Amino acid sequence: MSVISDYIGVSAVQNVKNAIEAAKRSEGFNALLSLSEERALERAAKVDAGEISGRLAGVPFVAKDNFLTLGGTTTAASDFLRGFASPLQATAVERLEAEGAICIGKSNLDAFAHGGSTENSAFGPTKNAVDDTKVAGGSSGGSAVVTALGIVPFAIGTDTGGSIRQPASFNGVVGVKPTYGTVSRYGVVAMASSTDTIGCFATNAADAELVMDIMAGKDANDMTTLPDFFAPEQPATLKIGVIKEAMTDDVDAEVRASVQAYVDGLKAAGHTVEDVSLPMLKYALAIYYIVVPAEISSNLARYDGIRYGNRADATDLTGVYGKSRDAGFMAENKRRIMIGSYVLSSGFFDAYYLQAQKARTLLIGEFDKLFERYDTLVTPVAPTPAFAIGENATDPVKMYLADVMTVPASLAGLPAISVPANPTAAGLPVGVQLIGPRRSDARLLALAKSQEVA
Ligand code: GLN
Repeated sequence: MSVISDYIGVSAVQNVKNAIEAAKRSEGFNALLSLSEERALERAAKVDAGEISGRLAGVPFVAKDNFLTLGGTTTAASDFLRGFASPLQATAVERLEAEGAICIGKSNLDAFAHGGSTENSAFGPTKNAVDDTKVAGGSSGGSAVVTALGIVPFAIGTDTGGSIRQPASFNGVVGVKPTYGTVSRYGVVAMASSTDTIGCFATNAADAELVMDIMAGKDANDMTTLPDFFAPEQPATLKIGVIKEAMTDDVDAEVRASVQAYVDGLKAAGHTVEDVSLPMLKYALAIYYIVVPAEISSNLARYDGIRYGNRADATDLTGVYGKSRDAGFMAENKRRIMIGSYVLSSGFFDAYYLQAQKARTLLIGEFDKLFERYDTLVTPVAPTPAFAIGENATDPVKMYLADVMTVPASLAGLPAISVPANPTAAGLPVGVQLIGPRRSDARLLALAKSQEVA
């Protein structure tokens, strides 16, 4: 694995060449969908000539392939956008480039970010960085794997219900899902607009903080953006709550042991740790899989084969819509469009969508209450370590269960990070999730930093 400081003050052209070579050597992982070698080398030459400077001058990175980028394609790992060349660049990428960072390529994901394993990609699954028989996690699996393999020191991704945190935990890197609104969503393929967030993968908390600080801030193109990556004062010792509903027998024993060891470390560092209860946790998945498909069905309506993406052959307008959508979307995309359309339909809106939004408000209320007494909450990131490729692929409900720990913070708009804890006996990475109140992102990273072994 590599850290950002290794890339600063050395030849940017060499950095880019090394990263591209490493990417090519790691092709078997299927973590990258495209490389933009030419544009990256051009920018690197400008850094070396002193024409581009900044806090990330000459540092190569990878963007999940649902960020619009100049140079190369943006496919969202779908057939719909296969070959799509964007005319503009996402704000997050623009801000990293303004500080001299160099995007070398785009990483694999579950198509349109629907999934938790990167198996739903139209370009085939990404393999886990530690054990290539296991999934990378998802949906930002490619970004997690390129970071864990040390191809780049950081990568960016999106997290709507766990898509940064879960692959970070499956590959043993730090993953940050910020407070909703921290980073502009402009230029990112929309999934569920009320929970979509932009974050990053890095090998340590300090690097992740630098990347978040650069990407964060108000953007006229996204009305939900917050002013900056706020860094509240950090008290010397914190009150930490371990959510007991997240530590039951349903969770893999090795995962629990690993979280417990991390918690013991927090205690040893002088923090107060208590078990706390979040009773609404058991409803979080049900809420998420109503609200999110509803928003997906609306956001994906724009793909009609006319304005965006590839068009199927047909003789009339309805045929163009239907055939293009049939060919462009994958089974999981269609499943969510159908569920979303159903829960929003006039006969069922009150029974499903409205009820789910009410339950979501109750969940948010429970978090608010806990944060009156606790600074940070702890859970595993996922109930198991990385599962085998194919293991959950034919059972969507089993796949959705992998999101049980990560969706609550998404529904409540809270910052949550995944930090590596002790691996399993077989060597598979395990992540601990630290959740904080809104705008406490930097505090979570400071806590993670204090627990990192040098
Ligand atoms: N696994 C979750 C889902 O499939 C999260 C996806 C995401 O955060 N993009 O909805």
